[in-house]
Amino acid sequence: MSTSQRLLAEADAHSAHNYHPLPVVIASAEGAWMTDVEGRRYLDLLAGYSALNFGHRHPRLIEAAKRQLDRSTLTSRAFQHDLFPAFCAELAALCGMERVLPMNTGAEAVETAVKTARKWGYRVKGVAHDRAKIVVAENNFHGRTTTVVSFSTDEEARADYGPYTPGFEIVPYGDLAALEAAVDEDTVAVLLEPIQGEAGVHVPPPGYLTGVRELTRARGVLFIADEVQSGLGRTGATFACEQEGPSGVQPDMYVLGKALGGGVVPVSAVVSTDEVLGVHRPGEHGSTFGGNPLACAVALEVLAMLRTGEFQERARELGDHLRHELDLLTGGAVREVRGRGLWAGIDVAPEYGTGRELSERLMARGVLVKDTHGSTIRAAPPLVVSKEDLDWGVEQLGAVLAESA
Ligand code: PMP
Repeated sequence: MSTSQRLLAEADAHSAHNYHPLPVVIASAEGAWMTDVEGRRYLDLLAGYSALNFGHRHPRLIEAAKRQLDRSTLTSRAFQHDLFPAFCAELAALCGMERVLPMNTGAEAVETAVKTARKWGYRVKGVAHDRAKIVVAENNFHGRTTTVVSFSTDEEARADYGPYTPGFEIVPYGDLAALEAAVDEDTVAVLLEPIQGEAGVHVPPPGYLTGVRELTRARGVLFIADEVQSGLGRTGATFACEQEGPSGVQPDMYVLGKALGGGVVPVSAVVSTDEVLGVHRPGEHGSTFGGNPLACAVALEVLAMLRTGEFQERARELGDHLRHELDLLTGGAVREVRGRGLWAGIDVAPEYGTGRELSERLMARGVLVKDTHGSTIRAAPPLVVSKEDLDWGVEQLGAVLAESA
């Protein structure tokens, strides 16, 4: 039995089976590459669902973390620490906002956005007690908590977790008329991913986000953009919302996570205005680890890296190249390629295999990807990937499809 097989069997015996990982056991990683316990190397085309936008162990992030490990790691929010003010100020500035509420995981940040919008509805908008409604989109992915899965349309993510949290209405993604019809006097927020990542990298029709912005503004409703996966460089801009129309849209609240922690520590946040985040009073919401010194040290380095614009530009340039290369595969096995920046949802004709089978065949060729639904593969390489490595990855996909034909 190989070391990999032994470790896979051990994990299988002692872990809950809430994931079905590819049968690979990683021992180390650097940049866009991971190495397994047998020394085999793999190109990472998933990048931790965009948590690894800056690649594995980016030297600037590792250095920032190591420096902070020698200073302090956790204070809890009961006490202030010296990096917290800069973290909040710099993150707010990056978002063109005023205030930050830090959490740890994406789902917690979404929960925080939901709670904030409801509280804003009661305290500022004047919605009647316990009537607040939040409109969300079909095929959304916002996390795994009981409230968040309450408004999921994915049966796998939702089944048997009821009773569900009320107060949400689901409308088709990209359909402005449906959204308009759903917004009523009790509506406090519209919560959307500007590009639906887990659903298979679905980009809404042009003008949709502008329409959402105009509608929510006109009706006194908050527009919450969940940029946990789309944000922080992935799409070729700091935020996917910026890429709408000629001048972008500014939501009322950004929900951020994943890459904010540089793939080193979990860091998430809700970033919004004085009016909106100002509704919270001491004791009404919190998190033991939210905004801890180590998280702030790494996130501050992430923010400094994003301010150079270098990663966004790489995502744009390599993304154009990736789409060009994938388009060459389109027609036979590849039904459709969607995406923006260095982010692609690739729909493969089902006769070529399920997304899972294709992922396993790619793994055998040294490329790691993750299927999403059915025969869709998602590619979200670290933004530091080289053009040569990216080309090689696409070549392997071409080869896998050719051998399945
Ligand atoms: N929102 C979006 C858009 C996501 O893609 C995800 C994770 N895939 C989440 C929220 C949840 O993040 P986490 O897994 O860190 O809770």
